[in-house]
Amino acid sequence: MLDADFFRRWMAAATASVDREAERLTDLDSAIGDADHGSNLQRGFRAVATALEKDAPDTPGAVLTLAGRQLISTVGGASGPLYGTLLRRTGKALGDASEVDTAQLAEALRAGVDGVMALGGAAPGDKTMIDALLPAVDALGDGFAAARAAAEQGAEATIPLQARKGRASYLGERSIGHQDPGATSSALLIATLEEAAE
Ligand code: ADP
Ligand code: MG
Ligand code: MG
Repeated sequence: MLDADFFRRWMAAATASVDREAERLTDLDSAIGDADHGSNLQRGFRAVATALEKDAPDTPGAVLTLAGRQLISTVGGASGPLYGTLLRRTGKALGDASEVDTAQLAEALRAGVDGVMALGGAAPGDKTMIDALLPAVDALGDGFAAARAAAEQGAEATIPLQARKGRASYLGERSIGHQDPGATSSALLIATLEEAAE
């Protein structure tokens, strides 16, 4: 079972992973965006880490809704409201249970991803974070390692796509041939579930 501690470890691992990979995320965003994805997420997740230390929410749902609120209020770019919505909606769907299982997490994350699609209007194949998140949610029933592999594959599969949402879409065909920064950070976020479980 996954308790509030697990979700705090997940957010801490995500913060560390974003810190480690910030430069790569910004490099990817410099190719098809405005070169701020790494620094956007670094600012956001550091605020998440600080808020979780201060408030110590004691249910899985409360951990994720607090994290989501921080991302929305501290990240100026498109990814802040989108990731914020992902975590807030997922947290809301978990309700006030003190522990959840992987199937419940998968169901809640699906609600979160639906929230991201409703807010941003992106569908699978539009070369966004959705292309990593949706396959991960579909694979989560088979465990965290399967979700990680699906997210990484989904992120790599954005390379040949033309962007249809976000800044990269302004480039038209010139967005082809580059991996989407948001899909890449989504794969990091999913990969850190495994770290939190160790
Ligand atoms: P900005 O584009 O405002 O500078 P970021 O660079 O932080 O914001 O984030 C860019 C990422 O956000 C993109 O790589 C893409 O994955 C994601 N993104 C942008 N617009 C959308 C959207 N409408 N729906 C889903 N994801 C989106
Ligand atoms: Mg950007
Ligand atoms: Mg920006």
